Amino acid sequence: MTRAMHQVLVVEDDPAIRAVLRALLQSEQFRVVEADRVARATIEATSHKPDLMLVDLGLPDGDGIEVIRRVRTWSPVPIIVLSARNMEAQKIAALDAGADDYVTKPFSAPELMARVRAALRRNVRAATQAPTVGLGAISIDLHRREASGPQGAVHLTPLEYRVLECLGRQAGMIVTQARLLREVWGPGHDDARSLRVCVKNLRDKLEPDPQRPKYLVTEVGLGYRLRTDQ
Ligand code: CA
Repeated sequence: MTRAMHQVLVVEDDPAIRAVLRALLQSEQFRVVEADRVARATIEATSHKPDLMLVDLGLPDGDGIEVIRRVRTWSPVPIIVLSARNMEAQKIAALDAGADDYVTKPFSAPELMARVRAALRRNVRAATQAPTVGLGAISIDLHRREASGPQGAVHLTPLEYRVLECLGRQAGMIVTQARLLREVWGPGHDDARSLRVCVKNLRDKLEPDPQRPKYLVTEVGLGYRLRTDQ
């Protein structure tokens, strides 16, 4: 699939921000569809089936989270939230509703486009089911559950593989703590300490400098992000 075929649905009620996003996306050969409210966004998402959505949370007829919930009932399309600064609770709610990532307003153009590209790559990877994750010198085969580095095999526990799988499916994107606990430990499990211990062990085994993680990165107050080599 070439970049030229990618279509992005921009859901944003501020005409000035919408214009900036349109110019930015079009300059990188994306086709752009726009919506300025919840109702319109749902219609455009259904009729255009975009490859990616950028969603502002404060919309005149409701919450952008409602758009995410509705779209998620039928589509795995990557969704990046455009959120105001210092709105931690709102970001968590959006990620838990099924958003893949967020960019804080005012956003930097290079950062936004990097997130867009990462989200699209993540989607292609999910479609092709690539099972291998590269973290520097260490290569991890998630299907066969084998990991190896310069010193040979790296032993990971089944729990550690499950955490990596969950992060790896969303490589480059943020995964909330609540989601990791739900998908790895099961519904109703809220023992954040188990997760912290597991992440620490993974860093000890996989990071060149576990005190300054390069691959398994903490997003303070939100969750974790796995930065792979791709
Ligand atoms: Ca708004």
